[in-house]
Amino acid sequence: MATHRTKMLIIGSGPAGYSAAIYGARAMLEPIVVQGIQPGGQLTITTDVENYPGFADVIQGPWLMEQMQAQAEHVGTRMMWDTIVKVDLESGPPFRAIGDSGDEYIGDTLVIATGAQAKWLGVPGEQELGGKGVSACATCDGFFYRGKKVAVIGGGNTAVEEALYLTNHSDDVTLIHRRDELRSEKILQDRLFKNPKISTLWNKTVESFVAGEDGTLGHIVLRDTVSGEASMLEVDGAFVAIGHAPATELFKGKLPLDGGGYLLTEPGSPKTEIPGVFAAGDVTDHTYRQAVTAAGMGCMAALDAERFLASRED
Ligand SMILES: Cc1cc2nc3c(=O)[nH]c(=O)nc-3n(C[C@H](O)[C@H](O)[C@H](O)COP(=O)(O)OP(=O)(O)OC[C@H]3O[C@@H](n4cnc5c(N)ncnc54)[C@H](O)[C@@H]3O)c2cc1C
Repeated sequence: MATHRTKMLIIGSGPAGYSAAIYGARAMLEPIVVQGIQPGGQLTITTDVENYPGFADVIQGPWLMEQMQAQAEHVGTRMMWDTIVKVDLESGPPFRAIGDSGDEYIGDTLVIATGAQAKWLGVPGEQELGGKGVSACATCDGFFYRGKKVAVIGGGNTAVEEALYLTNHSDDVTLIHRRDELRSEKILQDRLFKNPKISTLWNKTVESFVAGEDGTLGHIVLRDTVSGEASMLEVDGAFVAIGHAPATELFKGKLPLDGGGYLLTEPGSPKTEIPGVFAAGDVTDHTYRQAVTAAGMGCMAALDAERFLASRED
């Protein structure tokens, strides 16, 4: 078991972690990225990415993340294929973290970029048709359903926002909810009910997603929670919008979290309440949740980490 020391320890290897690494390495902080169980992060489980700036043609999510990793390595980042299982933030800086491998990581600064995972329904067809009609992100994939028929599953703010967003692309959006009223804010509900492009299906749960002849999503099998009757809804795209789970288990009781479990930072900044510890990307962002915003926050975290270290040398 080894001990690895660095001026900037980064937990997570999505766009936030890799961007922090690129900026940190170029500021001579010799960063270490502990990649976790999903090297490259969420974009490695998608296909087409059309909204990351800098690419005129459609690119693939896994390819984009390989490029970010290679860029971070070229400028001097050390990649560790390990998952952090314990952190000690109280006695820092330096901050200590223990990997699943038993290795110890010591960073004069710490960037938390552990991201989030969309919550899924866990029904048949959902994973198989992921990227082939089933998605968890309307901002990411709505554009692919221009002029098509889509459904959103959920009843909270995210679901209503996703349904409203999809009306930019589709005139036929169905919101499917398992109860007979929404949980979302009243103002969002008003906008939803006023929108002629959106219809609602109440008291319905999704039993399965079924492929059509071309292998992409053909229809959704629904079950009425009151009558027990099964029904079918033909759609081209289905957006599961039942929330996200930020990867913050490690930090419970060590850093403040909001009601949704996201790490709290100073408004407009990646600074947490512990000087020298920064949070970037989806782990702290329940609003935008995009690769480019995560990358931007990673950059901010690295710049602030550099300033934090410089201020200690004064
Ligand atoms: C299917 C899908 C399609 C998407 N399409 C788009 C799109 O087209 N455009 C767009 O802008 N956005 C898209 N997104 C959203 C985008 O992927 C996220 O906003 C972005 O990846 C967030 O980056 P992040 O760096 O904050 O975290 P993530 O990408 O979530 O990465 C988190 C990282 O933390 C690591 N980690 C977690 N816990 C630990 C631990 N204990 N120890 C070490 N490492 C750990 C993981 O291994 C992972 O590497 C999509 C998301 C999904 C799921």
